[in-house]
Amino acid sequence: MSNELNDIRVALEHQIALFGDLVVVQGEPEATNQPGAMKQPEAKEPEDEGSARQDTATDVPARADAEASTGASVLPKTESPSPESPEKVANDPSPTEVTPPAAASNAPAPATDVYSRIEGLIPEDSPLRSVSTLDEVRAWVAATQLIELDHTRINPVFGVGNPEADLMVIGEAPGAEEDKQGEPFVGRAGQLLTDILKAIGFERSDVYIANILKSRPPNNRDPKPDEIRAHIPILHKQIALIQPKLILCVGRTSGTSLLGVDSSLKAMRGSFHDYHGIPVMVTYHPAALLRNPNWKRPTWEDVQILRKRYDELTA
Ligand code: URA
Repeated sequence: MSNELNDIRVALEHQIALFGDLVVVQGEPEATNQPGAMKQPEAKEPEDEGSARQDTATDVPARADAEASTGASVLPKTESPSPESPEKVANDPSPTEVTPPAAASNAPAPATDVYSRIEGLIPEDSPLRSVSTLDEVRAWVAATQLIELDHTRINPVFGVGNPEADLMVIGEAPGAEEDKQGEPFVGRAGQLLTDILKAIGFERSDVYIANILKSRPPNNRDPKPDEIRAHIPILHKQIALIQPKLILCVGRTSGTSLLGVDSSLKAMRGSFHDYHGIPVMVTYHPAALLRNPNWKRPTWEDVQILRKRYDELTA
């Protein structure tokens, strides 16, 4: 078998493993020719479905599911969308704008001043302004306590992957396993994220994976607005240094915190947002998918759009 065919076979195997319950049913009118095309008639968005919090003994944070189901925000209602949201506090000039995938295609890769603008979101008096490598940022994060969670963590969870990645994946906050290992997305949800990436042809080492918070909230509770405000400049610095061409936010908290909006996951997903010139796709958190397989189909659609745009931007 040629290398190319083998690559296709491996990709298909991952797609089937991940989205196998959405198999193509021949003759069904709604079936498409894409792997993972639908069997289930409706990818119901159960906004009203219960989202019992996960037992804290497991490494799958319940908060992502709760967010996806209820649309509840990590930002207090009074704070958003308003100048007090984390991004606003960081002087973000409200960059979010949804563009349909079709209109967004053929767009040029982000200009380099995009990244200086993102660096400009970091408060002027922050030591992050004066460091110039990811290693320096990592060391600063490890040595610095910005919030209470930084005292209670076992390890800071800074980020992992290719420091020159064209795609950055951003989650919410470390869970128990991530806290133990000091690496993002290494628990059950992390394994699913790895599979999702594989299904669209990426190894973990191809991309850079980070979180909004670098320290674990106890019992997998939601990050608080002041915690997000305190830690998000670290992510701004990571983006400024890595200079990704595309960003994938997994979970509502990730999307709303980065984009500085107060929207439901359902409203954010499915098309690109413009983050200072960087296209951002927001989709379901893998922890939410573990609980609600109905969300696999929209996730599959989102990551395919993402992959297509990635190929256009990196061609
Ligand atoms: N969930 C997240 O959002 N991030 C992690 O690193 C692990 C689980």
